[in-house]
Formats: sequence, structure tokens, C-alpha cells
Amino acid sequence: MNSAELIACARRLDALGHMPSKSGNVSLRTEGGFRITPSGMPYAALAETDLVEVALDGTVLDGTRRPSSEWRLHASIYAARPEAKALVHTHSPRATALSCARLGLPAFHYMIALAGGDDIACSGYATFGTQELAEAAVAAMRGRRACLLANHGVVAIGSSLAAAETLAREVENLAGEYLDLLQAGLKPVLLTAEEMVAVTRQFGGYGRLS
Ligand code: 13P
Ligand code: ZN
Repeated sequence: MNSAELIACARRLDALGHMPSKSGNVSLRTEGGFRITPSGMPYAALAETDLVEVALDGTVLDGTRRPSSEWRLHASIYAARPEAKALVHTHSPRATALSCARLGLPAFHYMIALAGGDDIACSGYATFGTQELAEAAVAAMRGRRACLLANHGVVAIGSSLAAAETLAREVENLAGEYLDLLQAGLKPVLLTAEEMVAVTRQFGGYGRLS
């Protein structure tokens, strides 16, 4: 069930163009660690037996494939964020473009609050697959459920895989809106801290957040 859910999620994101050139990876927390997509395999061809279960220290618990090269990113975030039950990492194009300018997203739209606060940060740069990148991501996600990875892509966590996927997709949507504003030469009017607190309060009573 969890494996089918992971494959379906990866394929949906791939179909949306969020996983170009076999990039990105998705995982679900398990009792012993997390189950994650394998490294460098086309999503269309993925079978449940291609998924790999990895302990937080990197020990492979189940599976014959090599786990995603970003297993350290997933492991470090699961270790730092006990509430995270799933993690989605994409290279979605608009958010990635923003990350290449090392820009995060300010409170230009109320949906920024979906990530847990009044901005979505861009991490420092580090080589993909390294512990340095994992630590940069943990730092950029402090108090948030998402961040951009400099010159790289997006990370989103959730209390379920559906919540993490929804957030990753919304980060891409917001990045597109923000880039459109910048490209038009417009200066966004940012929401104040008080306005964002009111949004978070309103979300508390909102039907299907996660
Ligand atoms: P994997 O195919 O090893 O998961 O790597 C893709 C990626 O996005 C690296 O950052
Ligand atoms: Zn990546």
C-alpha cells in the first residue's frame, strides 16, 4: 500500500514536469526509518520492488536497488522533524529557477502560510547527495514544512504523503506567481506578520489542509 502510494506520487509529479531527467525523490517514514525511491530510475518503469527501505543511519533494511542519492537529506530531515511522515523532493521548474538566484519566497500571497510561516527560505548551496546539503535543508526548514534548495529544487514534508505532495506542488505554483510578478517589473505588496498570523488562524478551521 505504502509502496504503491509512493510510486503513484512520483509518477504524478513526473507527469507534471516536476521531476525532469529522473530527478527528485519521494519517501515515507517507516518503523525502522523510511522507504524511498531508488537512485536514477525512470519513474514510469518503477515497480514496488524497486523501492528501498533505509534506516536513519543509511543502513539498507530492504530492497536490492541503490537508494536515492538524497537518502541523507531524507534521513536528516526525518531525524530533525519527528512530525514529518513523508518527504517530497522535486526539481520543479519555476521554484528551481528561483533557487538558482538563491531567492526564497516572501509573504507575497497568503498561501505561503501553507509551509508553516510567513516565508519559504532558500537554503545555502551544497553538492547534491551530501550531508552538507542535508544540513543546509534542515536549517532552511526550521519552523517550516518546505524550503528551496539553492541551485537545485524543492523539499516539502507532511504528516502524510498527500500533504507533502500538495505542499511541493503549491511551492511550484507560488514560485511561478512570484516570478511572473518580478518579470512584469511589479513590486509585490507583502502581507504583514499580523496578516499572516490571521491566515494561519483561518487555516486552522479550513477543511482539507493535510
Ligand atoms: P536520485 O535519482 O538519486 O534520487 O537523485 C535525484 C536528485 O534529485 C538528486 O538531488
Ligand atoms: Zn535533487
